[in-house]
Amino acid sequence: MNHDFRGKTVLITGAGSGIGRATALAFAKAGAAVACVDINSRAAEETAGLAGQHSDRATAITADVSSETDSKRMVEECLETFGRLDIAFNNAGVDGSEAFTADVTMENWTAVIGANLTGVWLGMKHQIPQMLERGGAIINTASVFGQVVNPGWGPYAASKHGVIGLTRAAAAEYSPKGIRINAVCPGYIETPMITGQDNLPELQGRHPIGRLGTPEEIAKAVLWLASDEASFVVGHAMAVDGGYLVR
Ligand code: NAD
Repeated sequence: MNHDFRGKTVLITGAGSGIGRATALAFAKAGAAVACVDINSRAAEETAGLAGQHSDRATAITADVSSETDSKRMVEECLETFGRLDIAFNNAGVDGSEAFTADVTMENWTAVIGANLTGVWLGMKHQIPQMLERGGAIINTASVFGQVVNPGWGPYAASKHGVIGLTRAAAAEYSPKGIRINAVCPGYIETPMITGQDNLPELQGRHPIGRLGTPEEIAKAVLWLASDEASFVVGHAMAVDGGYLVR
C-alpha cells in the first residue's frame, strides 16, 4: 500500500536501529517529516541522514525516553523544527537480562520498565497535548510478550503487558478528542536486539510461518495504523508475529 504522509510530522523513538529505523525510513519515503529520537546520538543522526535521502525534512534528537526532562524536550525540539506533531511512534525499548522473578535485580527491573513502559507513558504525556487541536495518531510498540510470557523475562513481559494496558486507557480517553492510539505486537524480528542470540533457529520455529519477521514488516503495520485507512481502529494491540500467538 502506498501511503501519502506529505505535510505530516512523525516523531519516532528508538529510531537509531531496527524497527524504529525501518519505520523512520518508511515514513520518509511516504513524504513525512521525521524526527528521529534515540538515546544513541550517532545512531539517531545516521537514521536522519538515511531518511534525508527520501525526504528533505528529517532531524535527529538525542533523548532518553525514561527521563521526563528528555521526553518533554524531544517533543519541544520536534515542534521547534517542524512546527507540528501529527503522529508518534513510541518504540524505544530494551530487553534486559534473563532471570527468574526471584533473581531479577533492581537495576534490570528499573532499566526495562523505565525504557519500555515509563518511556511510552512519558512520550504520550507530552505528545497528546500537541495533537489535541488537529488530531493525531499514536502507535506504541508492545510485543507478543504483551499478551503471553517467556519464562525468565518477567520485567520485559510486565513492561509490554503494561504498554497494552496504557494504550487501551489512553485510546479510550483521547479517541473522542480525535487522537487514535494503538499498539503493535511484533513477534521475533531480525534486529540487533536478537540477531546476536545463539538460538535463532529455535526462535524461528516458534513462528508458524517458519521465519523471523523483518523490521520493514513492522513498519508497514505502523504506517497503516497511522493512516486514515485505520480510521476506526482504536485501542487495538495488533499482532504482527508470523502466527506466534496462535500456537
Ligand atoms: P534495537 O535494539 O534494534 O533498537 C532499539 C533502539 O532503541 C536502539 O537504537 C536504542 O538505542 C534505543 N533505545 C533504547 N533505550 C532507549 C531509551 N531509554 N531512550 C531512547 N532510545 C532508546 O531493537 P528493536 O528490535 O528495533 O526494538 C524496538 C522495539 O521493538 C522495542 O520496544 C522492543 O522491545 C520491541 N520489540 C522487538 C522485538 C524483536 O524481536 N526485535 C519483538 C517485539 C518487540
